Amino acid sequence: MAEPATARLSVDLDALAHNYAVLGREAQGAEVAPMLKSDGYGLGAAPVGKRLWAEGARTFFVARLAEGEALRAALGPTRPCQINVLDGMTPGSAPRLAAAGLTPVLTSLAQIAEASAFATQAGRPLEAILHVDTGMNRQGLTLEEARAVAQSTDRLRGLEIGLVMSHMGSASEPQNPRNAKQLEGFLEVHALFPRARASLSASAGVFLGPDYRFDLVRPGVSLYGGGPEGTPDPRLKAVATLTAPILDLRHLKPGDVVGYGESVRIDHATRAAVAGVGYSDGVIRAARSGGYVWLAGARRPLLAINMDILILDLGDADAQIDEMVEIIGPNALVDDLATAGGTVAYEVLVRLSRRAERVYVGEVQ
Ligand SMILES: *Cc1c(COP(=O)(O)O)cnc(C)c1O
Repeated sequence: MAEPATARLSVDLDALAHNYAVLGREAQGAEVAPMLKSDGYGLGAAPVGKRLWAEGARTFFVARLAEGEALRAALGPTRPCQINVLDGMTPGSAPRLAAAGLTPVLTSLAQIAEASAFATQAGRPLEAILHVDTGMNRQGLTLEEARAVAQSTDRLRGLEIGLVMSHMGSASEPQNPRNAKQLEGFLEVHALFPRARASLSASAGVFLGPDYRFDLVRPGVSLYGGGPEGTPDPRLKAVATLTAPILDLRHLKPGDVVGYGESVRIDHATRAAVAGVGYSDGVIRAARSGGYVWLAGARRPLLAINMDILILDLGDADAQIDEMVEIIGPNALVDDLATAGGTVAYEVLVRLSRRAERVYVGEVQ
């Protein structure tokens, strides 16, 4: 007998490889260093990292020390690569960073001091990255601090700064003048550390043109199928596909109220389908109004998202119990669900939970 149908998250590694190639073409010679923070945007840093290594990636970024350790262990000694940790050298983390061969992205004068002390004590140079803030006001040295570091002869003692980087706050809006301002700031940063490689752009910046690419780009969301401008981009393929079986079908008539509360009142005769997936599987509940799923060859409006089930308006289309509904995927686009839910594709992806059965499509390698 066949297995009972259930909610399933399928991660398409061939689509990931496609998106990596699209970004590589767009980056035109800049190294593409995939962002694997938050378990590879919720899709599994280990299989995603292995496949991207097979596609040629040799530099990866994560946010946390533990993410770096897990990725190093997963990639193992047969896949040499640089793993950069965005949190940097947080107090006391130096021995573990060193043990796992992780490169800290230094974000403050205190971190620089800690890294320099560690390197001096160890008696060997320590490779590190400098993160400079160019107007996002989030992480990194201020420009003044970067100038002071560049001029000082001893602050960087023991450190080899292989890369200077900054992060953009409005790159998903190509016309926003903040982009050019951040670029201007970053050009100054790069001039302060002329021997280091430079990196300014994440996914959106890759598409802003050659001025923004520098030596290395750090895309995350677009590798996983999210458009660089927060809207669907036909150049990219969906990597995550969430499907769930129809559990029940019912007729609705004008005046019927659907689900909890009375906010969903039906004004037309239609059929509703109940699918076995809900916010506990990671479907953003706020998307219940304005969101859609894909069933029987068309977009179907969502009516309700509960913990374990969602309800959709099937109209007069034909569908059967056990037929699979696509909640996120090549037809139900992650950026659309995010927009309906008042959030971003990043959050939709990282919230996909472990309850939905996971399968990987394509070679991990
Ligand atoms: C998350 C992050 C990225 C990747 O951003 P995307 O928009 O997902 O491409 C790159 N750099 C830094 C510093 C980040 O925090």
